[in-house]
Amino acid sequence: MPDIGFVNGRFCALADAVVSIEDRGFQFGDGVYEVVRTYAGRPFELDAHLARLERSAHALHLSLPVTRARLAEDVRDGIRRAGYPESKVYLQITRGPASRDHQFPATPAPTIVMTVRELHPLARAIFARGVRVITLEDQRWGRCDIKSVNLLPNVLARQRAAQAGAFEAIFVREGVVTEGAVSNLMLVQDGVLITAPEGPRILSGVTRSLVLSEARQAGLSVEERYSGLEIVASAQEVFLTGTTVEVLGVVRIDEKVISSGHPGPVTQMLATRFRTLTA
Ligand code: PLP
Repeated sequence: MPDIGFVNGRFCALADAVVSIEDRGFQFGDGVYEVVRTYAGRPFELDAHLARLERSAHALHLSLPVTRARLAEDVRDGIRRAGYPESKVYLQITRGPASRDHQFPATPAPTIVMTVRELHPLARAIFARGVRVITLEDQRWGRCDIKSVNLLPNVLARQRAAQAGAFEAIFVREGVVTEGAVSNLMLVQDGVLITAPEGPRILSGVTRSLVLSEARQAGLSVEERYSGLEIVASAQEVFLTGTTVEVLGVVRIDEKVISSGHPGPVTQMLATRFRTLTA
């Protein structure tokens, strides 16, 4: 079967998957989502993604209409049905269809949708070379820890990055770097790994947590604190983490080349350790 769609418990071909135009996800962006990928056909860190989905939903006073175990089974089922070597699963839960009124409906009927598409991993050469990023003012709302479907600032930022020939846009709020539009950002200075702290300014990445734990195990000190843009741009190493980017060296921020212009030794060490986790 080609790309898979799923709406409220039913699998279908992606082209046949539809929801109501009155769905609050469509009308208000009133919903949350997750992206899970597979390695060797198995969903990676599925429990952590579903736990975050539940946290995001609760933050919007939205109860998951089914158990986490049921969702996990549906994700696994979707991956099996699609049958790709590697898949990317998009899972979204909204407050469902209701006549258009900002306040919550009295008896919400949440919508769960899922898509399963083939994942084409980033070429190894990109990891070896590293990537360029641009900086942009962080115009997102005050709860970036909630993985909500309101992604307009991220969409505009990714578009700007693409137009600039950059791989990612990183956000700067009040002079400090928060994270990327689809990734978290880390820097290395004198053997210390520094990244923005968990809280309302960033999405707490599943990859971020794994990489921080690997860094600690490798004997690095880890500091979760904000860094100004000048500190980041003059760091010995900078890299991105995320489900789709894994651990990816940044070699240029705007016009500033990072260190030697190649992904540094700590970035490479953590990328290797991360890859081991996915095996
Ligand atoms: N930050 C933002 C804004 C994201 O959208 C993402 C992933 O989509 C991440 C960070 C990385 O999170 P994860 O490692 O869980 O994929």
